[in-house]
Amino acid sequence: MTRTPADYRWPRAPEWCPGCGHFGVLQAVYNAFAELDLDPARVVLVSGIGCSSRLPHYVRATSVHTIHGRAIPYALGIKLANPALEVIVVGGDGDLVAIGGNHLLHLGRRNVDMAVILMDNSVYGLTRGQAGPTLAAGVKLKAVPKANPQSGVNPLLLAIASGFTFVARGYAFDVRHTSRLIAEAIKHRGSAFLQILSPCVTYNNVMTRDWYEERIYKLDEDPSWDPVVRREEEAGEKIRRALDKIVEVDKIPLGVFYKNELVPTFEERYEATYDPTYRANPPALQRVESGGRTVVDFEKLVADRLL
Ligand code: SF4
Ligand code: MG
Repeated sequence: MTRTPADYRWPRAPEWCPGCGHFGVLQAVYNAFAELDLDPARVVLVSGIGCSSRLPHYVRATSVHTIHGRAIPYALGIKLANPALEVIVVGGDGDLVAIGGNHLLHLGRRNVDMAVILMDNSVYGLTRGQAGPTLAAGVKLKAVPKANPQSGVNPLLLAIASGFTFVARGYAFDVRHTSRLIAEAIKHRGSAFLQILSPCVTYNNVMTRDWYEERIYKLDEDPSWDPVVRREEEAGEKIRRALDKIVEVDKIPLGVFYKNELVPTFEERYEATYDPTYRANPPALQRVESGGRTVVDFEKLVADRLL
């Protein structure tokens, strides 16, 4: 069966401001799922709290809308309980880089085979435009009284330092390119981190669509750009090249910065150390009815498998 993007659309209008970048990310998620022909029953989207964390509500898949900053530990529990599921975390910069920053760090070092999609707008949109953790120093946004006195975190540097083995950046209004990056992040074997620049049209009056479009360019416009590590000795050099791009001033590169599938995943290490049949015998999905749709019973799944 070949699915189309419309097959993943849940019939509920997104509760986002008109023009929000998150609409582009949502469409890119539909496109990527269709490109990979993912079975909705086997896809789990996990989010925390924030405007972007509403995204799983609009996708025909199993969605888990958890508490602020804790999407990654929930997702880890689900993935480790049933490694046959395609588990994807979505969230904003406040959720994944501030309150949830510690979980991001530890997912990277574990290299569990799942993807994190950061919808980054450098503000807390849901709570009316406070400075988010990725906002650069000196930027004065309309909802706050003074320019930001703190430095912003660069989430791509954090991802590289934490050990993510796929690190990429997209732009919400380039839906076609972002769709491809989401598909690549999902296909990657290991922990994948994808930052999607997703302008908040209501509260971020500095990093607007025009502001981004004056600065973005695609890494693969350079035919010599090759982010893939093919031999272990290459990893250091590939990381250094990625870092040069990630810290570029006044320009914003989009695309894949780093990809290394030579690092063993958590699942492979677990099998080598504890249980060689770990992925070979995934548990059957337990379905329950909830709010008019059939979802996977995660509590039972986690309890049966891990407790
Ligand atoms: Fe999007 Fe900003 Fe509106 Fe939230 S407040 S829905 S991030 S435009
Ligand atoms: Mg945000």
